[in-house]
Amino acid sequence: MTIRAVTWDAVGTLIAVAGTVGTTYAEVAAAQGVTVQAADLDARFPGAFKQTLARWPVPYGADDADARAFWDQVVRATFDIPLPDDLPGACYEAFANARYWRVLPGVREALALVAARGLPQAVVSNFDVRLPGLLVALGLGPFVTVITSAGVGAAKPDPAPLRTAARSLGVNVADLLHIGDSPTEDGGLAACGCRVWLVTGGIDPQALEQHL
Ligand SMILES: [Mg+2]
Repeated sequence: MTIRAVTWDAVGTLIAVAGTVGTTYAEVAAAQGVTVQAADLDARFPGAFKQTLARWPVPYGADDADARAFWDQVVRATFDIPLPDDLPGACYEAFANARYWRVLPGVREALALVAARGLPQAVVSNFDVRLPGLLVALGLGPFVTVITSAGVGAAKPDPAPLRTAARSLGVNVADLLHIGDSPTEDGGLAACGCRVWLVTGGIDPQALEQHL
C-alpha cells in the first residue's frame, strides 16, 4: 500500500501546552488579582474538562461563541471559586496565543520530510476554532487544510473528519497515514482503512521514514 498523503493530530502530536494548564490559568488569574495554586488547578482540570465534555452536544466548539461557552464552564469548574466575569474568557484567549504552546520535538523536521517527499499534509483535530491561527503562529505546515471536529460536526474516532480531510487532499482514506497520540481518537481511525502511527512526546523523523 502506497501512502499518498499524511494527516496529523494536533495536541499531543504536533504541539503541547508549554507549561501546564494550571500554570497558565494561574498566571492569567494573577493578572486579574486572583491568587490560586497552579497545582490545585491542574488537579481539578481533567475532571472539569471531562464532565463538561460529557454534557456538551458533541463536538464542542462549532464556532467561537460555542467554544467560549464550553471553556467558560471548564474554567469555572477548574477554579471552583467565584471568578471575575472576564477571567474565563481570558483563559480561553491565552490558549489561542502561541506563547502558551510549544512545538514537540522532531515535528518541524517531520513536516519538512513529508513535504520533501511531495506528499500533501493536513491536520485532523478535535481541538477548536483556535487551532488554524495557532498553527500559523507557530510556523507549522504546509497543510492543505486544517480540519477540526467542530467544523465537521463529528469528533475522532468518528471517521467523518478524516474523510473530509481526504477529500481536500484528493486521496482515498486508504491512501492516508494518520499520525496521532491518542489510542482511542487517533488509533480508532484505523477502522476506516487508513494506516495509523501512534506517537508520544514528539516525532522521530527516522521512524517516520519507515512509515511512508
Ligand atoms: Mg492528541
